[in-house]
Amino acid sequence: MRQLSEVDRDAIRLAQDPKFTRWLEQIASTGGCAHPVHLSGSTTTWSTATNEILHHYDTRDEPGERLSVRCRNRRATVCAPCSRLHAGDTFHLVRAGLLGGKSVPESVRTRPRLFATLTAPSFGPVHRAADGEPCRPRRDGGHCEHGRRLGCGTAHDSADPLVGQPLCPDCYDYPAHVLWHAHAGKLWDRFVIGVRRRLASSVGLAQSDFPAHARLSFARVAEYQQRAAVHVHAVVRLDGPAGPDDEPPAWGTVARLTDAIRTSAAHVLVRTAYSPAVGELPLAWGAQIDVRALNADRDSMSDDAVAAYVAKYVTKGARETGAGADHRLLTWDDIDAVPATRHVRTLMRTCWRLGGLAEYEPLRLRAWTHTLGYRGHILTKSRAYSTTYAALRAERAEHQGLGQPPDAGSATDALWRYVGSGHTPGAALIAAGVAEDLARNGAIARAELNSATGVALGSG
Ligand SMILES: [Zn+2]
Ligand SMILES: [Zn+2]
Ligand SMILES: [Zn+2]
Repeated sequence: MRQLSEVDRDAIRLAQDPKFTRWLEQIASTGGCAHPVHLSGSTTTWSTATNEILHHYDTRDEPGERLSVRCRNRRATVCAPCSRLHAGDTFHLVRAGLLGGKSVPESVRTRPRLFATLTAPSFGPVHRAADGEPCRPRRDGGHCEHGRRLGCGTAHDSADPLVGQPLCPDCYDYPAHVLWHAHAGKLWDRFVIGVRRRLASSVGLAQSDFPAHARLSFARVAEYQQRAAVHVHAVVRLDGPAGPDDEPPAWGTVARLTDAIRTSAAHVLVRTAYSPAVGELPLAWGAQIDVRALNADRDSMSDDAVAAYVAKYVTKGARETGAGADHRLLTWDDIDAVPATRHVRTLMRTCWRLGGLAEYEPLRLRAWTHTLGYRGHILTKSRAYSTTYAALRAERAEHQGLGQPPDAGSATDALWRYVGSGHTPGAALIAAGVAEDLARNGAIARAELNSATGVALGSG
């Protein structure tokens, strides 16, 4: 008789369980999540008028006396099914802010709306791929103080591992790169304040009066470029003072908003804390700033394309983009174990080393070594931009008949505790199969998403 693998034996054991059908239902309701969280507990809903129990659910009757829920990880490398769901939610969240829907009025379509890309400045020349053009050509040749050539001249393929690597690692300003990441959140906050200030001053308003006239909303996503520096894509919208339901003032035009974004990005300056080792660095956005109007006439870039473009980035972990690791690094030696380029590893080591300096303690650089010092979320949005992930999840739960909001006159008591996570080998195999089936069934929706993503958005 053929020897069965451990996975097969485990899968057979599961399939022979009398509660297998119900177990499979649970797996399907998590979308085939690769690392589900297991909970044990109960929910009881009763009428406040009669004390009659209207609904009772207890995991005691479930397979293994537990209920499995999604891990909700956004990264495709960690959990493909949950990352697909997260990308879908992000798509709807960004789309609602552009086109309305999900509690956002459709009138947002006619508001001044822009898609802006802000980059990091240069920390030293890196190899780049430019459509068959030679990389950093230099007629006069020349060498840096470390004896490395100042130019390159090779026509790199975009898959060339050299692309994004510095021409001279010794000339490259690693501390500035890491510290820029650590201050990216502050640079963004100052940028937003600057946009409001410039809009106000362009029409002779005092800055403090701006909130009485208009409101700026945005959703932004961070992306690692090939040189492992974060850049930011943002959807920016101008509403009236009350937000999405309110018309902006007549002076709130696309041209004025574009101008305010450009000038603010060009002028923001954040200084690092003084360090005897590094000095005090002035940090700014890179000179490459791209601002495009999103027109209602859908001439250039469609709103769906923008939403899909943003959604695409939230599923990528730092590891997948080759710019870091998906998990926190706990020791200096962990850095060696990360599958990354020499450039990324040098950034990690710089991050760890600077993290040991007292003056940089508030930046928590060691805790964020895996993201090269960047502490922000991948997606951030202002409150008035559109709906929330929580609202989208609640809507989905309602569709599935779970977690219905209690009727008036009823109360719910819930008691839950965490009892574990993950799959046994056989369960993992079955869950992967369920996830694949669901993915195939959802292919129509995703094909739409992909065709929208396929729209060329140029460099960024
Ligand atoms: Zn999951
Ligand atoms: Zn090159
Ligand atoms: Zn050099």
